[in-house]
Amino acid sequence: MDEVLIAGGGIGGLASALAVLRAGKRPVVLERAPEQAVVGSGLSLWPNAIRALDALGVGAEVRARAVSDANGGIRDAAGRLLLAADAAALRERFGEPIVVHRAELMAILRDALPDGVLRTGIGVTAADESGRVVTTAGERTAELVVGADGIRSVVRRAVAGEVEPRYAGYAAWRTVVMPSEPVTEFGETWGRGQRFGFAPLADGRVYCFATANAPADAPDGGLAELRQRFADWHAPIPALLAAADPAQILRHDIYDLPALPRFTAGRIALVGDAAHAMTPDLGQGACQALEDAVALGAMLAIDGDLRRYDALRRPRTQRIATRARRLGRAGQLSARPLVALRDAVMRRTPASAQLGAMAPVLNWAPASMM
Ligand SMILES: Cc1cc2nc3c(=O)[nH]c(=O)nc-3n(C[C@H](O)[C@H](O)[C@H](O)COP(=O)(O)OP(=O)(O)OC[C@H]3O[C@@H](n4cnc5c(N)ncnc54)[C@H](O)[C@@H]3O)c2cc1C
Repeated sequence: MDEVLIAGGGIGGLASALAVLRAGKRPVVLERAPEQAVVGSGLSLWPNAIRALDALGVGAEVRARAVSDANGGIRDAAGRLLLAADAAALRERFGEPIVVHRAELMAILRDALPDGVLRTGIGVTAADESGRVVTTAGERTAELVVGADGIRSVVRRAVAGEVEPRYAGYAAWRTVVMPSEPVTEFGETWGRGQRFGFAPLADGRVYCFATANAPADAPDGGLAELRQRFADWHAPIPALLAAADPAQILRHDIYDLPALPRFTAGRIALVGDAAHAMTPDLGQGACQALEDAVALGAMLAIDGDLRRYDALRRPRTQRIATRARRLGRAGQLSARPLVALRDAVMRRTPASAQLGAMAPVLNWAPASMM
């Protein structure tokens, strides 16, 4: 009975399967989608995530996609620097942050798993603390059930009951474009109630994202809306949007989860968005899912005591989720006086202070978890 059943084959589920294998157990990943579609866009992986990927044995493949000399910061819509990022200091102190295409990361994780571990087209419909899982292909019982089934997790019900995700008040668009002029900088631009960000990928393409305040389920104006919203913003933003393909724009309303009272119950553990979906403002959601996977594997290798996993992961991820939400609120401010105040504070914040504030997030290492 050394089977570990993982519900969900996203980043959290695939990474958990790798960690479970390394702990000497037998993972089975049930993914409800019929096949893994190449959806998604860019994804920033911070040094803490790269260390987690190293611990899972796939760090080198992700490191090969680094764009080493990029620099950037946060600007206002006219292009004036509000907060310079000291990328060189960040690299020196914590290691290289890397932006990859989500599909590339998924392929790296999937290809590192033996055949037969990932079973697509099977949805989990219920789980209980005894390790019993009901799926669309029948029932099974596992030594451990890992709920890696995302923000609207089914497995979470057995751990925390019904938990309603919270709407953050804004929508986000993502796309990847091949620009006509090379882009070597990364950065975010903060306006009033809307933001735009971009980061070069290793192959010359550029990951772009944008946010705007909106009621939940507002109609999607697609690329035309984005071009209109950001038409008079500084270069290269209009040019990036001019190069975008309307069919390749993803739009999501942004939700996070309230803090759960526990991540584990009986034979169940939650990882990734099922446990701690957070707003994307720190670019840490997937990074934390990777850390979860490493901690899960370490816990299994030591004694399988799920309380250890809960104690290690819950406080850290909930602190990071709270920070992400606060940062999102600041980034989405729309009242002129508040935006002026926010921008003034950012102009006075030295890059070193910003780096220091990120240290507790970025300096995670597998050894520090146990
Ligand atoms: C706009 C935006 C930008 C982001 N940018 C970043 C970033 O730059 N860096 C970063 O680290 N994070 C980022 N994130 C967060 C990141 O995308 C998530 O935290 C991460 O994808 C969570 O992975 P997961 O595997 O936990 O969940 P998911 O990616 O949601 O995967 C869950 C999987 O489970 C499957 N599933 C669901 N229900 C069932 C079921 N009942 N049975 C079987 N399978 C099921 C789904 O099909 C899916 O494949 C961003 C998020 C958004 C919305």
